[in-house]
Amino acid sequence: MRVGVYTRISRDEVGDGLGVMRQEEDCRKLCDRRGWSVIGVFVDNDVSAYSGRRRPRYDDLIQAVEGGEIDVIVAWAPERLHRSPRELEDFIELVERTGCVVETVKAGSWDVGTSHGRLVARMLGAVARSESERTGERVRRAHQQAKADGKWRGPIPYGMRASGTPGLPEGDPERAKIVTEILGRARRGDALTAIAADLNAAGVRPKRGKAWTHTGIARLIGSPALGGLVEVDDEFREASFEGLVDASEWRSTQQALRRRPRGERSRPRQTLSLLGGLLACAEHGHPCFAATRGADVLYQARVPGQCFVGVSRISADDLITSLVVQRLRRPDAIALFRPATMMGAVQGQLEEVRRRREEIINLVGDGVISRYEARPQLEALADRLRRLETQQNPTPSLVTESSLIDPRQAWAGWTTIQRREVLRLLFDRLAIKHVGFGSGPRLSPSRFVLDWATA
Ligand SMILES: [Zn+2]
Repeated sequence: MRVGVYTRISRDEVGDGLGVMRQEEDCRKLCDRRGWSVIGVFVDNDVSAYSGRRRPRYDDLIQAVEGGEIDVIVAWAPERLHRSPRELEDFIELVERTGCVVETVKAGSWDVGTSHGRLVARMLGAVARSESERTGERVRRAHQQAKADGKWRGPIPYGMRASGTPGLPEGDPERAKIVTEILGRARRGDALTAIAADLNAAGVRPKRGKAWTHTGIARLIGSPALGGLVEVDDEFREASFEGLVDASEWRSTQQALRRRPRGERSRPRQTLSLLGGLLACAEHGHPCFAATRGADVLYQARVPGQCFVGVSRISADDLITSLVVQRLRRPDAIALFRPATMMGAVQGQLEEVRRRREEIINLVGDGVISRYEARPQLEALADRLRRLETQQNPTPSLVTESSLIDPRQAWAGWTTIQRREVLRLLFDRLAIKHVGFGSGPRLSPSRFVLDWATA
């Protein structure tokens, strides 16, 4: 018998994985006693049963059972395998379908193949679920109590850090100034996207992730800890720790944000630049994105300290546009936009499928086979037909032959999304070279490294 051992540890247990190791040890002992060979151990670590997050290794285990690689599932206890009645029902269905054997260290053989076994499984599941919910309830109550005492619960925002006392964060001397500046700019009405772009351009990293985003800025600004406040029963109360700004300052920032029109708050006027992400540093390969630096808008690689390549956005857009328009004037341009498909081969297959469908329909008509017998075959053929037809008519191209009569006018009429699509088709590589230190983000055509795609 080929065994897959499944172990899982939840967040409220030790975080060092010891629990998982003990579970695995016990499961292996059980397999030894039965003379089974363990061919895989599937471990999901530190995943809360309550959160409902995905369990990647559990999915792998199910796949292995489906694929016939495993005959037996061994777990430490039934509640390790399932977190919800829904998962349990799916599991029962799987076991019935595949005939897979389930055995647990704690509850022995687990016969979900009989109605009694299923009933036991469902009851055990319900008990585990209610325990998990009770734990959640206990944690929530503890949080409420802590907040009522003026303590902070949840992630500590950027600009603050944990002090010696849990629940009482303090200002982070290195980052506090950045946060007070962000709050000030938001109060004055600066776009959150602009604030995020400036931080990125200055090489300031957020706590998590690579770069600041407007939602990240919004989340930061919305943290009452910054104003020395905690939220209790939907209202803000004075916390037992100091914020980075006065409570009144924090509140007026919130009001300033709320007054703004929604679109402006969440989206910049022009989200998409022509070359953002398409243009790369010629030396390092880092993609460049549009960023505001002072009065200029630049394409920059966002890798501070390592790659300082940058170029004025307007000049780069102009240069690339004129090159593209010239390229589109050449007679072979349209060939670049023609999707390369094996038209002949597809056509032959299409005819074959149509012929077979015709045949089956005739057989039904003649009473040789029943409609019921013919149905799965006809469905399979219809499926193939649909797939072949989409191959024959690929999504229509953005560029039509007629639009190439006046490429400049066509370019002017395209949206940024369409223009970027055209750039992807025209160029294999769009890169920009560094300039000598101190000479700034100058533009000269020789700075570009352009590989044109060939039809
Ligand atoms: Zn570079």
